[in-house]
Amino acid sequence: MLFSRSNQAIPVTTHSSRHTPLLNLAIGLILILLPCDLFARGPQLKRYEYSLPRMGTIFRIELYSADDRAAAKAAEAAFARAEELEQIMSDYREDSELMRLAREGASAPFPVSDDLYDVLAKSIRISELSRGAFDVTVGPLVELWRKARRTGRFPDASELAQAKALVDYRNIELDSERRTVFLKRAGMKLDLGAIGKGYAADQMLALLQSHGFRQAMVVAGGEVAAGAPPPGEAGWRVALDTPDTGAGNPPCTLLLHDAAVSTSGDSKQYVEVNGKRYSHVIDPSTGLGLEGAASTTVIARDAATSDALGTALSVMPVGDGIRLAESLPGVAAYMVRQAGNGWKRYASRGFPTSCIGRE
Ligand code: ADP
Ligand code: MG
Repeated sequence: MLFSRSNQAIPVTTHSSRHTPLLNLAIGLILILLPCDLFARGPQLKRYEYSLPRMGTIFRIELYSADDRAAAKAAEAAFARAEELEQIMSDYREDSELMRLAREGASAPFPVSDDLYDVLAKSIRISELSRGAFDVTVGPLVELWRKARRTGRFPDASELAQAKALVDYRNIELDSERRTVFLKRAGMKLDLGAIGKGYAADQMLALLQSHGFRQAMVVAGGEVAAGAPPPGEAGWRVALDTPDTGAGNPPCTLLLHDAAVSTSGDSKQYVEVNGKRYSHVIDPSTGLGLEGAASTTVIARDAATSDALGTALSVMPVGDGIRLAESLPGVAAYMVRQAGNGWKRYASRGFPTSCIGRE
């Protein structure tokens, strides 16, 4: 708005040929200064921050606004959207749409909401790209992982085999015309834990933007969806939560706008059995949680993609993950893997070099 008003002043230059060079220079300076002056007298943008617990973690909104009430109203609507999505996607709420689909979707094609359809379609795409390293049908294995966390004991071989037999995204059938989902095997369980928060962050950011707040960012746990940069800045500062940070090695910080970033490899979520730690990220080919400290950061155009790819690349061999990232437009990846007493770091082409060379 402000800038378009200042642009209207430009036609004045058409008269400048009648003035002396010095006067021309003076008018030129005024014209250059004018937008700044208008900007200074325009409505003052202030930074607002809101946070609430959602989906088992903290969701945060940051935005710039000249109006307290409009900002609060938009944030409230964005959190309401997150609540709506939680009711659809939760695997903790027995009455969520996802849980109803798991109960009824193996008997007949089950009509779903647009949100559930979209998040499942995105999931299947990432499963195909990662050849099943990311798989939303991982539910039965997640259940065994949770049981191991409660009991401190490993699942036995037959339990593991039974659960693994139910995990295969190719057994989900989407009908795009009828908007139905059919699960080809009874007992399948869907788990959106590795894409739902990212999807919610995208939806919340879109909602803030539809309320006119383009300079906004949504952080859903480890998933970040960023809009236009804050006023006068090149982007939003996002410090990456990687396991190699500590004294002398501060977190890598990205400057992000109109893009998303996710870091998978939450060091707090693991089960310990016989002195070994197994992450909550499960390799569907073994049925077990990943071992060893590691993190995978993915930048993508939207947070559903960065979230799901972060999990996929955690499971895949590093070289395959880097190749996959480099084959996708707008995607870049950065991985930290434990190597003996130290760390190895890998980055795809396109990952910001300021972050790679931080030590
Ligand atoms: P975080 O929740 O810390 O961001 P992720 O995005 O990697 O971590 O999601 C991990 C969650 O995703 C697990 O808790 C589980 O619910 C689910 N999950 C685990 N392994 C897989 C997998 N291979 N594919 C899809 N979902 C997975
Ligand atoms: Mg994820």
